[in-house]
Amino acid sequence: MKAKDLYIIEITKYKKGKHHIEFDITNDLIEKYQIENVNAVDVKADVDMIVDPNFLQLEISLNGTINIQCGRCLDYYNHEINHQTHLTVDFGDQTDDLTLINTQITINKKENNLILDKHFYDYISISMPYKPAHPEENGKSQCNPEMLEQLQKYSNNTTAKQTDPRWDKLKHIFNNN
Ligand SMILES: [Zn+2]
Repeated sequence: MKAKDLYIIEITKYKKGKHHIEFDITNDLIEKYQIENVNAVDVKADVDMIVDPNFLQLEISLNGTINIQCGRCLDYYNHEINHQTHLTVDFGDQTDDLTLINTQITINKKENNLILDKHFYDYISISMPYKPAHPEENGKSQCNPEMLEQLQKYSNNTTAKQTDPRWDKLKHIFNNN
């Protein structure tokens, strides 16, 4: 089943000239693309669109936060998203907008809608930190101390298992073979 389109510009509604369109990008985007490690999306997209009979020129600005999982303490924190980009859309015989982070796409001239879901997903994906972690404040990590403690306990338990005498026995057997 094809997932529902979320962020749509009804091209036919707009006359030649400049238009401003706003979108609230929400958790629907996470569900549609099954984005991992992200708990919530709260991003506003401002789109300035110039409509010409032969093309559309979009200036896109994304601002807001994503609630993302910290790789250190596994708790979630708000990561700020500020992303500016532009997108030129021209009209051809078929829709071809499958490329990643492209600033130029072609859609079928018979198409009434410009779907921005994949584009918003791409912009947010490239704005996500490579290694998500709580930021530091005054040289002090903002990681959740309770979560870190739990993780420490867990990792101590794992270490304990590795030195379990039964494992030592097994190791002994293997070493003798
Ligand atoms: Zn953290």
